[in-house]
Amino acid sequence: MVKHLTKKMLLLPLFLLFLSLFFVYIYQSVLQTQKNIFQKIENNKIQEYAYIFQNFNDYLINFHHVRTKEDLLHLLADKNNQEVCYNIMSVMNTKDTKYLYILQKDKDNRFRFLLDASKEDKANFYQKFDVQNPQYQTIYETKQAQIITQKDIETLYSTYLYPLMAGDEIIAIVSVDININITYEIADLVQPLALFFKILIVAIFVAAAMVITQIFYYFSSQKRIFTDPLTKLFNRNYLYEIAPSLNLHNYGLAMLDLDKFKNVNDTYGHKAGDLVLTEASQIFKKSIRDNDILIRFGGEEFLVFLHDRGNKKSTIEICERIRKNIENDTFVYENQEIPVTVSIGLNMHPSRDKSLTDAIKKADELLYQAKENGRNRVIF
Ligand code: GH3
Ligand code: MG
Ligand code: MG
Repeated sequence: MVKHLTKKMLLLPLFLLFLSLFFVYIYQSVLQTQKNIFQKIENNKIQEYAYIFQNFNDYLINFHHVRTKEDLLHLLADKNNQEVCYNIMSVMNTKDTKYLYILQKDKDNRFRFLLDASKEDKANFYQKFDVQNPQYQTIYETKQAQIITQKDIETLYSTYLYPLMAGDEIIAIVSVDININITYEIADLVQPLALFFKILIVAIFVAAAMVITQIFYYFSSQKRIFTDPLTKLFNRNYLYEIAPSLNLHNYGLAMLDLDKFKNVNDTYGHKAGDLVLTEASQIFKKSIRDNDILIRFGGEEFLVFLHDRGNKKSTIEICERIRKNIENDTFVYENQEIPVTVSIGLNMHPSRDKSLTDAIKKADELLYQAKENGRNRVIF
């Protein structure tokens, strides 16, 4: 019965566990969606810049007739042209850009500033620019624009490198640092959702923990209610718990009582008495079988429901076995040997009695007879 209950009660925390895993999955997809949106925003921005830089490239070719990188260098070395191009570049600055400049490789393959339209930390004309990122080389190999991206959860930093071309030759590259605060752009939409799921997951875990604690508490209190603290055997409460579902037809009912137990307490002390009770309980337990039910009924009185397995006489054998095992065991307390025997009254047909109480009374009467007849015996 108790086992059956365990399985049922474990279903709930299992369900909660599955639910939390499901929400963890949803939370992950929310984060993935956020990443995808980051990607879309980045792509859109870069597309815009690609158009603008293409127009700027055309302007240099068509209006200023730039044909080589030297043409461009000469063009921008001139203060007036510098100012014109600077103004055009400044128009490209938006709230999302921080650095915006044109770089060109010199004879020694070092990058130099041709024009810097950054909002701050402006470089001077032909100032050196040290690069570490290999994509500054890749752009020369592939002649394709490059994106250098670093993302964190709130901000998207990208550097977009665009090749300015004259015919087949790269005459310079435009570099723009795009810096988009996602909190400002979209995270405001996604974050409440993410927060909601975070709270939900925590709530489910807390609920699961509470349910598990409750179940644990239930079983530990259940154990306490049905267990005798001294002998760890079932107690009277357990008897009343199982009585309705017990089929007495299958059982013999034995009442066991330790002989002259009061003397044990009086002679060796209460502690010795406790020890004898505990040890005798273990011997009872070892003497019976799995189907039998052993209960500490009161002080030094025990009830055993002995499953007859279709053979009523077998219950007598078990009672005899219990009696002998107790008689043959040596109970020792502080180097003193305590003689212990048990008397047993066996009601072989408890189902014939009107009630369980009557059946117990019958076993008790037989036990009384065993006491009367000199103790350390089984009467049935
Ligand atoms: P009899 O052979 O007729 O059964 O004699 P008895 O002395 O065993 O019977 P009686 O009912 O007079 O005494 C039982 C004693 O068991 C009295 C009580 O102090 C003792 N007892 C009951 N419960 C416990 C317990 O948990 N620990 C100890 N040490 N003694 C207990
Ligand atoms: Mg007694
Ligand atoms: Mg007794």
